[in-house]
Amino acid sequence: MLCEARAPRPGCTRDRITVHLRVNPLDCIAHGLCAELLPEWVRLDESGYPLLADGPLPAALVETARRAAQACPTRALLLEPDGS
Ligand code: SF4
Repeated sequence: MLCEARAPRPGCTRDRITVHLRVNPLDCIAHGLCAELLPEWVRLDESGYPLLADGPLPAALVETARRAAQACPTRALLLEPDGS
């Protein structure tokens, strides 16, 4: 999604895309890798399922979050632009 300064779309803040991290609970197997790779944003509950921080990812964490999503063995961890 492209963000244009004059006509921003949902999920765009100025010239940046706002990205949220989400977990598909149907696919998550409580592997825990996401919390190891992205401890700034993910912690695990008592059963080992991820609990994510609220709100959009800080820009500084987006690339790390992308790598964590790619490493998730079941592809349950998803990066989604706001408004998608
Ligand atoms: S790495 Fe994937 S499967 Fe493992 S806890 Fe995180 S979201 Fe669930």
